[in-house]
Amino acid sequence: MSNFNIKEKNLTAEEIAVIGIPFDENSSFRRGAALAPMRIREALFSESTNMWTEKSIDLGLMSGWQFLDDLEFLNRKMAFELIESKINELLNKKIRVISIGGDHSITYPIIRAYGKWYSKLSILHLDAHPDLYDELYGNRHSHACPFARIMEENLVKRLVQVGVRTLTGHQREQAKRFGVEIIEMREIDRVNEIMFNGPVYLSLDMDCLDPAFAPGVSHHEPGGMSTREVLRIIQNLKGKLIGADLVEYNPERDPQDITGMVAGKLLKEIIGRMLEEKNNGGYRDRTPHL
Ligand code: MN
Ligand code: MN
Repeated sequence: MSNFNIKEKNLTAEEIAVIGIPFDENSSFRRGAALAPMRIREALFSESTNMWTEKSIDLGLMSGWQFLDDLEFLNRKMAFELIESKINELLNKKIRVISIGGDHSITYPIIRAYGKWYSKLSILHLDAHPDLYDELYGNRHSHACPFARIMEENLVKRLVQVGVRTLTGHQREQAKRFGVEIIEMREIDRVNEIMFNGPVYLSLDMDCLDPAFAPGVSHHEPGGMSTREVLRIIQNLKGKLIGADLVEYNPERDPQDITGMVAGKLLKEIIGRMLEEKNNGGYRDRTPHL
């Protein structure tokens, strides 16, 4: 894997940084998502395919984007602080960030950083689960809770969830309370109606896909999206994509690297989509009070 090109100091404004977040301590059921960053990188560089996006951008040129070193969690208790401060540091340099790996709890500290820089931020959240629990097994930072925390703190203007198929009574109430817009999986055709004004952050939980397409996740939830449906959402998104995360890939449940290749493909198309929208500096519309 010597072709990684880690030279953070040379990152320039408007470039895209892809950073690994190997953290899965808020998973309620199975660990493993911490192993994802390395496996997604391997898939992206796999010689079984090439590095061109479907819309003909050659990511192999490593132009306009690069990988950074994975975050290193020396003090596990300070994990969220580390994530938030690292993302904030990158946004401060006008870098757009794609995070790979981790359980879904990491989206909360990421959005705490993004919310400081974008006052009119929308989130497009693809997931089998709404992740709106007030708490799960006593953990308010569980991977089942990040969007409750995000909405409580008013970090974003709009949260749109797509692919959900596990709503409980409690989570329906939470969605109503926070004004979350949900396109449930059973009404997936409505996905074409979604339109965003201004900056959009994409939070992509790999279990939005049907387990037949992506078995390497901790929570198998049948009846989900195909790989093509997710690609179509990324490619046709109406709005300005300014950041993304790719979470919940669990390599320990992925013996043939099937899901790793799907994650690599999705990452490729997300990078491509963001490269198409290079000139978006004007969207950083807020001076944070740090
Ligand atoms: Mn999730
Ligand atoms: Mn999920």
